[in-house]
Amino acid sequence: MEPAKLEWAKEWLKTAKHLFVGGEFVPSKSGKTFSTTNPANQEKLTEVALAGTADVDLAVAAAKEAFQNSEWKNLSRRQRAETLNKIANLIREHRAELATLETLDNGKTYQESYVDDLPESADVFDYYAAWIDKIYGESVPVEKGFINFTQHEPLGVCALIVPWNFPLLLACWKIAPALAMGNTVIVKPSPFTSLTLIRLCEIIHEAKVLPKGVLNLVTGDLEAGEALSQQSEIDKISFTGSTLVGKKVAEGAAVSNLKRVSLELGGKSPNIIFDDVKDLDAVVARSFQAMFSHKAEKCSEPTRFIIHESIYDAFVSKIIPKAEAVVCGDPFDPKTQQGPQAHEAHFKKILNYIEIGKREGATLLAGGKPDPLAEKTKGFYVRPTIFGDVKNSMRIAQEEIFGPVLCLIKFKTEAEAIQIANDTSYGLAAGVYSDDAKRAHRVATQLDAGMVFVNHYGCYDFASPFGGVKQSGWGKEMARHSLEEYTKVKSIWVRYS
Ligand code: NAD
Repeated sequence: MEPAKLEWAKEWLKTAKHLFVGGEFVPSKSGKTFSTTNPANQEKLTEVALAGTADVDLAVAAAKEAFQNSEWKNLSRRQRAETLNKIANLIREHRAELATLETLDNGKTYQESYVDDLPESADVFDYYAAWIDKIYGESVPVEKGFINFTQHEPLGVCALIVPWNFPLLLACWKIAPALAMGNTVIVKPSPFTSLTLIRLCEIIHEAKVLPKGVLNLVTGDLEAGEALSQQSEIDKISFTGSTLVGKKVAEGAAVSNLKRVSLELGGKSPNIIFDDVKDLDAVVARSFQAMFSHKAEKCSEPTRFIIHESIYDAFVSKIIPKAEAVVCGDPFDPKTQQGPQAHEAHFKKILNYIEIGKREGATLLAGGKPDPLAEKTKGFYVRPTIFGDVKNSMRIAQEEIFGPVLCLIKFKTEAEAIQIANDTSYGLAAGVYSDDAKRAHRVATQLDAGMVFVNHYGCYDFASPFGGVKQSGWGKEMARHSLEEYTKVKSIWVRYS
């Protein structure tokens, strides 16, 4: 692992952080900015341009012009693929810089940024570059005298809104397939974590990889997000964030121009553990890692462990020491296992849910408070928290906390486990641990979730679709599914007789 580039970051943070519109870095029309802070100590990192509706309109005009008139449209498929490969390589070249900024802004450990987020952010561009010449239409058997075929065409201007938990990675998951299919894009990061996307735009700009206006960046919050949802010249909006805001995005898209919408939203994912598992230590270890890595700020993490009553006590005795042993600390210190939560309101929200859990009568088994470091450093550190004897009807089992608060729920029968697992408004992911292959399959097919992990919670690959059902979202990302999200199908008829 390369060392963090903290000295470089210090200098970089001194320069103005503008919007990137039509190939230029520009201040917001209003001149307003907002500050972004380091969640490990609450120190201000820098000021960032605050985009409003007028800035979104300019970005849309630039993206539209680039879609309709620029050389982007006329690139051959091979040239477009080479462009994406170049972006992948630029991200690799700047890996340490980008990982440093991600950790400063989000609080995840430098190791998590460097090892988990950065390689995938680069690789996804290569993955979609390789798809560019593999999207075929159909030749359709229609009545005599006619040929009918379909072709996949880009949508036009795509708005991509992302949250703060994987700021660069989730944006790249959207930018890569959108560009691969020939669209132009406007990206909006969360105001808590704008830095890596600003730096990515700089890197791409300096390397002169993309024509002007193909990639645009608007930093900001509510106003910019609403404007993107409601702007009627935007053809597609792809949103990752909370269910609450996702519904507003869908509404804005519907009342404006019925732009295409895809939504990757919240979760409250179950992880069922049957009493036939042979290696309980391994189950506890993997499940713990799936839940608590990246400070438990992952949409698909298993926040409800549904455990057979006969192994419940053994499970509890194995998981508590793991939670107690976690080292919270400076995310740049290699000994640190858990960094600070991403921002203050979120930190307070997590602590509030811990109080709710106590009031609801769940048994606090581990954590339940800030790490002592929080007071010393002003960092937003929360001890990994485990509640036992949780009833699925409790708020801590129903509402997304998005932090290190785990619910343990007992079950007696297979049917009851499935019922509890599905008793949620979300449907992002689910896990099943069982060494009985028939049971594992039987249960997996009955879980109402977009992704089900059998005997290894948390498997991800660009080749496999990612996304939820119910109130966890609309549509899928990854694989060919993302390409469908960024194309429209045209049916062409030709008369030949
Ligand atoms: P959020 O919904 O508050 O914000 C997400 C983005 O929407 C931000 O960029 C924000 O500025 C913007 N926004 C805010 N108000 C808006 C509005 N009215 N219209 C348009 N955009 C608006 O979410 P968050 O707190 O940044 O992120 C955490 C949430 O993201 C959790 O619910 C988590 O489950 C979800 N998430 C889902 C996935 C997934 O793939 N399903 C992945 C990561 C995170």
